[in-house]
Amino acid sequence: MEEDLGSFADLAHGKATMSELRNRIIEARHDQMFPTLAPADIERLRRFGDAKSYGSGERLISAGQVAPGLIAILSGKVEVTQGREFGRREIIVTHEAGQFAGELAQLSARPSLVDAESLGPVEVVIVPSDRLRDLMVQEADLGELIMRALILRRVGLLESGASGPVIIGEVDQADVLRLQGFLARSALPHRVLDSQSDPCAKTLIERFHVDSHHLPIVLCSNGKLLRNPGENELARCIGLVRPIDATKFYDVAIVGAGPAGLAAAVYAASEGLSVIVLDYRAFGGQAGASSRIENYLGFPTGISGMALMARAYNQAQKFGVEMAIPDEATRLSEGTDESGRRYLLNLGNDEVVRARAIVVASGARYRRLDVGNLAQFEGSCVHYWASPIEARLCGGQEVALVGAGNSAGQAAVYLASRAAKVWLLARGDSLDASMSRYLVERIKAQPNIEVLTRTEVTSLEGHEGNLESVRWRNRASGEETSRPIRHLFLFIGADPNTDCLVGCGVTLDQKGFVRTGADAEEGRHALETNRHGVFAIGDVRSGSVKRVAAAVGEGAQVVAALHAYLAARGGGEAVAVTGVGRV
Ligand SMILES: Cc1cc2nc3c(=O)[nH]c(=O)nc-3n(C[C@H](O)[C@H](O)[C@H](O)COP(=O)(O)OP(=O)(O)OC[C@H]3O[C@@H](n4cnc5c(N)ncnc54)[C@H](O)[C@@H]3O)c2cc1C
Repeated sequence: MEEDLGSFADLAHGKATMSELRNRIIEARHDQMFPTLAPADIERLRRFGDAKSYGSGERLISAGQVAPGLIAILSGKVEVTQGREFGRREIIVTHEAGQFAGELAQLSARPSLVDAESLGPVEVVIVPSDRLRDLMVQEADLGELIMRALILRRVGLLESGASGPVIIGEVDQADVLRLQGFLARSALPHRVLDSQSDPCAKTLIERFHVDSHHLPIVLCSNGKLLRNPGENELARCIGLVRPIDATKFYDVAIVGAGPAGLAAAVYAASEGLSVIVLDYRAFGGQAGASSRIENYLGFPTGISGMALMARAYNQAQKFGVEMAIPDEATRLSEGTDESGRRYLLNLGNDEVVRARAIVVASGARYRRLDVGNLAQFEGSCVHYWASPIEARLCGGQEVALVGAGNSAGQAAVYLASRAAKVWLLARGDSLDASMSRYLVERIKAQPNIEVLTRTEVTSLEGHEGNLESVRWRNRASGEETSRPIRHLFLFIGADPNTDCLVGCGVTLDQKGFVRTGADAEEGRHALETNRHGVFAIGDVRSGSVKRVAAAVGEGAQVVAALHAYLAARGGGEAVAVTGVGRV
């Protein structure tokens, strides 16, 4: 079980699209994926839902549409299939009395990835999403059994690669990688059809009269076709992100779904606060980019950053956290009404989130290399993390990786398992000062990693977005070397993400990190900024320890401060803002 849940995100990266593998997982985990509830469990479940009858051949769940909820079968049979919307109907399972239809989408009322149809008359109990979350909390053992099944079913769908949106384009095209990366990091099943070689892709391109210059296209389960969409457009089409409820005041709005933000969300929501989390990329933050975290407590064999973050993301959804991903917070301002101070977060798409308190958990963004033509290779040949998607592109090739920290070390070791050779380029005299000892040792032991210290990249050569060679210089000797390298990885540190705080009066330190506690103003809580009710946690906070465990710890710690702040201010679910923008 542990292994399957742990591999959740690796599977999301499209490591396996073979149905044999999925069948193997289904066989091995069949009882956990498709459990039969005891009559007493069905009785407990009934409390949370409503009974309903269906005639033969009725559609209970449609791919691309939000399902009415988790569907427990009292009598009759329900067949679950995938791929119907794209003409490749494949049976996943036939549920019988005592079993239930549903997967992770039902937990957060997102559009379904599969279809379910009655085979003959059926009697069911439908548990709507909000009641399903109540069930998980109130009936812990039954909730655990259901949650495990929902996660394993998502793993099965990720593996099968036969549900969710279909991306059609050239497999190494920057925009295909961008969309694929986004869906993979969102743990959303999808398929990529190569427009160059896949006959099905060619047929679809002709059918929709798509000019090859307009690729990639994305076919969504609801029947919509998108032409090279942005992540936000795609997310809205597939129902991953929903419109913000403009009338609602959340107790807390959290900017950033990295380890700090997700931890704060889990603890705040589990303690009864209404929470919304925003992230402009995908959940996981920098931690999601880590191929293997070995220093996080409780995982002696290590865990991939995405696997750890996917667990946290599901956990937050279980407690009813509203996820707005991808949505960017662009401006923080403050308003007041009769019940006190309110915060407003403007989003990139003109929507506004209203909350009584704000937690800034926006972490840091990767530094770019100071090389003139870098931008033309980004997205296709210059990478800021090393997931299985990037590793696949580098199979059997030489790659260059710049950096000397733990993230660079992890990525080098990971890429060395796929690439023919990894050139690890570091500006300093050695890796010892900046990299953990265990990684330095591991790199030494890896015959296909060559470390070049006192070295910097001087130029990139290539055309039409395709990198052909990388040139570097030894800073001590001045000697220059050029190698035929098509993929360059950059792990050269990060700067704080504080753009949304510009003009809101929150004070930053000299490097742009958010000041908190006494460093911000005398008498402040350790994680509170100089603005009452605005807190900062994780990597974005001045003086924080840049580690996953530290970010998670601050996420837990800030909830006590939030409770104290909210209790002191009083006031519950609120009314309209009367004065806005006092900043
Ligand atoms: C490749 C790599 C490997 C690492 N390995 C390890 C390791 O092995 N062990 C370890 O302890 N640490 C490791 N780290 C460091 C660790 O990942 C970070 O310390 C940790 O992720 C910080 O968490 P955070 O939540 O504070 O910020 P982040 O993880 O940076 O998350 C911040 C989130 O905020 C979002 N965001 C930013 N601005 C906005 C905005 N305006 N609106 C909406 N969303 C926004 C971002 O998209 C991001 O998802 C690694 C880092 C990297 C890059």
